[in-house]
Amino acid sequence: MERIKGVVAGVDAGSTAIKVTFYDGTLMENYIEPAGWNPREVAAGMLAKAAERRGETVDDIARIYGTGYGRVGLDSLTKAVTEITCHASGAACLVSGVGTVVDIGGQDVKAIRVDGNGRVLDFIMNDKCAAGTGRFLQVMANALGLDLSAMASLSSGGDYCPINAMCTVFAESEVIGLLNRGTPREAIVAGLYTSIATRVAAMAARITICPPVVLTGGVAQHYSMQKALENELKLPITVPRDAVFAGSIGAALLAWNDLQRGGE
Ligand code: ADP
Repeated sequence: MERIKGVVAGVDAGSTAIKVTFYDGTLMENYIEPAGWNPREVAAGMLAKAAERRGETVDDIARIYGTGYGRVGLDSLTKAVTEITCHASGAACLVSGVGTVVDIGGQDVKAIRVDGNGRVLDFIMNDKCAAGTGRFLQVMANALGLDLSAMASLSSGGDYCPINAMCTVFAESEVIGLLNRGTPREAIVAGLYTSIATRVAAMAARITICPPVVLTGGVAQHYSMQKALENELKLPITVPRDAVFAGSIGAALLAWNDLQRGGE
């Protein structure tokens, strides 16, 4: 079948960051910017800039599929697609043969079981509580006087201080108390990763976890998070280089497939 030429875009309007993927059947380009206070404007600006780099305008994009928590507010969308569908498709593109996707984003956590083609077989999601999400880490990084990148590269060297509070607000007080008692930040951070990993693993266990397991979302940038989750799940976990773009890549691929089929 002859390939229909053109470029498509996937936009993942998350709670923390906007991710945009352009795909023309050969090349994939990914862009990320903080969502800020006006995610709709940020997304529109990113699409316009990325199109301009190609010597085109937004009108030249054959299909724009949107996903993520902020997708309803986006302009110029051809179609909105659920996060679960997009993350499954994106993760399957990043790691072929993936069995289970665990996505830890800014304000939700998802575990998705997928078939060999990246189609959703089952999923579970927590978007009711900040504990166990990237937002939890942001609050704790702030309490520890660390930026997120510094936190992500902090190694405890095995030292570990359990965090008992389940709620973000109480956990923040606990962290401040530990700091005041002279507990090393590295040990507190290790305790925080374990706290998130325990919650995520308990949630993921409610669907059947099939290896290989892939970790996506912004929190996948924390190497110790990957290790803590491996420890809880007792399974190796792969973190692809473009883990944070799984949603936008999935949206772009679905748009591309529809373009090739001539569908809506
Ligand atoms: P969303 O889709 O809701 O915007 P993301 O998947 O983009 O969420 O993940 C956002 C989370 O990623 C943040 O809450 C934070 O915990 C983490 N994060 C963001 N930037 C960084 C960074 N530079 N280093 C480490 N972690 C980060």
